[in-house]
Amino acid sequence: MKTAQARQGLGKLALGAVAYLDNNATTPLSAAALARMKELLQGLPGNAASTHRLGVAARNCLEEARARFAHHLGGAAQILFTSGATEGNGLCLLGALRHPANQCEQLVVSALEHSSVYDYLEVPLERPVVACKALAEGIPDLDHLEQLVASRRSLVSVMHVNNETGVIFPVADIADVVHRHAGLLHVDAAQSVGKMALDEVLQHADALTLSAHKFQGPLGVGAIAVMRRQFHLAPVIAGGGQEGGVRSGTVNVPSIAAAAVALDEAASLPAPDPGLRDELEAFIEHCVPHCLVVGRGAPRLWTTSYICFPGLMQEDLIEALSVRGVHAGTGSACNSALHESRVLRNMGIERLYNQGGVRFSFSRRTPRTALERLVEVFPEAYADAMGRSPYL
Ligand code: PMP
Repeated sequence: MKTAQARQGLGKLALGAVAYLDNNATTPLSAAALARMKELLQGLPGNAASTHRLGVAARNCLEEARARFAHHLGGAAQILFTSGATEGNGLCLLGALRHPANQCEQLVVSALEHSSVYDYLEVPLERPVVACKALAEGIPDLDHLEQLVASRRSLVSVMHVNNETGVIFPVADIADVVHRHAGLLHVDAAQSVGKMALDEVLQHADALTLSAHKFQGPLGVGAIAVMRRQFHLAPVIAGGGQEGGVRSGTVNVPSIAAAAVALDEAASLPAPDPGLRDELEAFIEHCVPHCLVVGRGAPRLWTTSYICFPGLMQEDLIEALSVRGVHAGTGSACNSALHESRVLRNMGIERLYNQGGVRFSFSRRTPRTALERLVEVFPEAYADAMGRSPYL
């Protein structure tokens, strides 16, 4: 019964009757990427490590995709495919800490990082892991960073664009601090690749990670771009030695080839102006004048609008919108069981606001009708969620 209902739900989704505003969680697969994936799934049984001709054909597809990634991530010394940014981040941090040539004495992560970086604060490692404080505008505190990296050779991990707020981190300034003290810089670019110019990160990061499902590629594919040869990675799992001996496991050629198509497409589509996001914010501020648009004063990407509605619980508004066909997100899909965002808390946003935070996020292909639908249903959904407020 439940399965039949779930299928029915999916059927409705497939008809396109929804306004999808949760693109920072994941984006819909592009038609061209899907076509490439299907072509290889149906037509190419080869394992890229096999020596027979089908294996060679699979390997050629893999290397073609790698060349596309290298082209878009100009200057990369090496591209390694992973299953996504969670794995890529973990491999960069653990693999770089472990490699003796890097001589890292500690890992520094910012208090604003995604859990796939931040949670290493809780994992017992051979080297200490420390957190760099955040400033109220949603970027790392560079004075604190300098204090942390001054005494020990550090591996520092920060993101390029925050997945919750859309705030763009000053990567060149961060790199300046890290490199002045002979440290290494890893940048989690999961929310920026395919969405903005990457020159600053490509120029200043020692390594970066990305995830294809954030730019209309398939789920379960990511990459590490090692930008400088002096950023060494040791493997963290044993196996067949694929991906330069760093990331073992049979390589997912159809998905990687599809990811390369999605990246090509993202690069060729015109950069959207933040019009849709700004219109959404203006409308919501008109409806709820005491709401808080997080990161408003900071440089922010067009993809993201995180708005706090004091007095209501985020899950109530998300549900009230969702039943009306508008799908927004909590700050982090990976953290959605929590009722408060750690990122917002570390920016000093008080609990009353934090608990009522909802993220609206866009892709390059979000249609104007998604905004129109939101405008149609928001006042009623807001009243509905407020009616459930624990503060009433
Ligand atoms: N880093 C950031 C900034 C993210 O937004 C995400 C996805 N929420 C990840 C890492 C994890 O990516 P993946 O889903 O590919 O594991």
